Amino acid sequence: MNTRKVFMLIVGNNPAVLERPLLVGELACPERQGELRPWSAARPCRLREAGAETEITPRCGRCRACKKTHVLSADIALCRRRDTLSCIGAVVGVCNNGNNGRLRRCPATCRVT
Ligand SMILES: [Zn+2]
Repeated sequence: MNTRKVFMLIVGNNPAVLERPLLVGELACPERQGELRPWSAARPCRLREAGAETEITPRCGRCRACKKTHVLSADIALCRRRDTLSCIGAVVGVCNNGNNGRLRRCPATCRVT
């Protein structure tokens, strides 16, 4: 069984703002604390929110110490989830409403098979 660890850094969603910390080495590697430097981009992904879709292309950084690349996830997305963070948060809020802090399945999100 492959037990490879995948580390992701959650950063802002503005590419222009993200480039500067990458260029000057202000972002640290989550594994070795080495400096992350600009390194290509991950595959584009489509996110859903309020009936609309947005395509984002996460930026990648490469650690100078361990030479690994890391995906810099946008702060509007969760790893391997198609809905945006605010969309998921809204559903959790609806499901939790009036339930004394206990989550239940939300009928609006259940599929009928
Ligand atoms: Zn590293």
